[in-house]
Amino acid sequence: MNEFLQRCRNAIGEQYVLTDDTDLLAYETEWRQRFRGRALAVVRPGSTSEVAAIVTLCKQFTISVVPQGGNTGLVLGSIPDASGTSIILSLKRLNAIRAIDVANNTMTVEAGCILSQIQQYADSHHRLFPLSLASEGTCTIGGNLSSNAGGTAVLRYGNARELCLGVEVVTANGDIWEGLKGLRKDNTGYDLRDLFIGAEGTLGIITAAVLKLYPKPKAIQTAFLALSSPTSALNLLNLARNAFGSALTTYELISSISLELVHKHFPDIPLPFAKQYPYYVLVEISDQESEIHAREMMERVLESALAPTIANDAVIAESLSQASYLWQLRENISMAQAAEGKNIKHDISIPSSSIPAFIKTAGEQLDKYFSGSRVVCFGHMGDGNLHYNISPPADVEDQIFLLQQDKINQLVHDEVHRYQGSISAEHGIGALKRDELIRYKSPVELELMRSIKKALDPDNLMNPGKIL
Ligand code: FAD
Repeated sequence: MNEFLQRCRNAIGEQYVLTDDTDLLAYETEWRQRFRGRALAVVRPGSTSEVAAIVTLCKQFTISVVPQGGNTGLVLGSIPDASGTSIILSLKRLNAIRAIDVANNTMTVEAGCILSQIQQYADSHHRLFPLSLASEGTCTIGGNLSSNAGGTAVLRYGNARELCLGVEVVTANGDIWEGLKGLRKDNTGYDLRDLFIGAEGTLGIITAAVLKLYPKPKAIQTAFLALSSPTSALNLLNLARNAFGSALTTYELISSISLELVHKHFPDIPLPFAKQYPYYVLVEISDQESEIHAREMMERVLESALAPTIANDAVIAESLSQASYLWQLRENISMAQAAEGKNIKHDISIPSSSIPAFIKTAGEQLDKYFSGSRVVCFGHMGDGNLHYNISPPADVEDQIFLLQQDKINQLVHDEVHRYQGSISAEHGIGALKRDELIRYKSPVELELMRSIKKALDPDNLMNPGKIL
């Protein structure tokens, strides 16, 4: 092992191979601080060729590699297991923006670039990079692509996969595949790019990517509506889709308890309505014409929605700061639920048309078998993606409740399966949902996935124990 570490130091510099326990702690601990893995070392290469040199050494010494970006993943994909035999390969020093091609609406960035840095760079060239997540100040584009991240603008622009035209990859063999093409059409055989996107580091290391840019919208309008039920939310979604077309950027569902928790733990954020309602939605549109045009469109749709049976109340943000307050109500739900105590999280997707039925039947099942548990349901309803998190009943201790985690996961995921949904809409599988994946994927699908893994990583050194 000493020889391996010395060869790593020779390849990238002594100071970039960390082995001290205190240096390793932050890399080994996942975002929620519930789990800590153990690594042989944290290795921090500064270029694609250094990544290739390290992966080649890993192959030679049969050392497994856990790639890591911002370590904000929520499924234990970016930390190793407890054996202390893998290295964590941190991509954070690969943080250069290599090029921007404004006329082609593309930019080429290295994997360790922080998402917000990419957004700001695009903005300074009057372009929009639309991927947007609450973790954008910390997560990296390599992690975003490897987990095929979603976020709040998928409805209009698609998820990370749809925002990427090309990738540069260090393969499990230590070779460099230079796939950095900025093409919107390229039908030349199997789409290798799409294999590495969403692979959670199990097939190779993404070291750079060509990203799609968009013209910056001329105007953005944000509104918050109060609703009586998930069925009203679905009716409003269809009204909004028809009326706004591609201008509809965001459609976020927020249940009453979600907003109550935010109000309890972030009392400085003003609430939009004096009264409480069972559900709310945050709607945002991006318009290429003008402020006036966007405002008129939003007002027209809200007027139709306020007719009986769809929305009970509505506000439109009158300023950027009001829009920011409305967003804070949405963005702080996870933090508020964490402040309340431990909870069991589900990141699921189902056809949006089935969301009202799912909320009803899953809620009934939970009531029956886990009476009193509190469902904190919110998320990207426009994409059919809900964060369906379960907090313990008020009088049950967190640790006692967490003993039920496997049963609650199965109950919720069985309901998701019943509506032909997915047990992971945007966070991935990692180590956390690996056993659940086996329960719901067909044997044929699992076998195809295993064949791909074997072909690209025959020694099983790329993030072993994740996904499969
Ligand atoms: P990491 O956590 O470091 O890694 C994620 C996975 O990718 C791991 O399996 C890792 O091994 C692999 N990996 C990382 N870099 C590379 C690379 N260069 N090459 C190969 N594999 C690599 N996710 C969403 O999709 N939508 C959301 O709205 C959202 N909101 C969030 C809000 C908060 C507050 C937090 C904490 C997380 C949220 N997430 C969300 C989850 C997380 O931020 C995303 O999954 C993000 O894309 C991970 O990026 P990262 O750089 O932190 O990756």
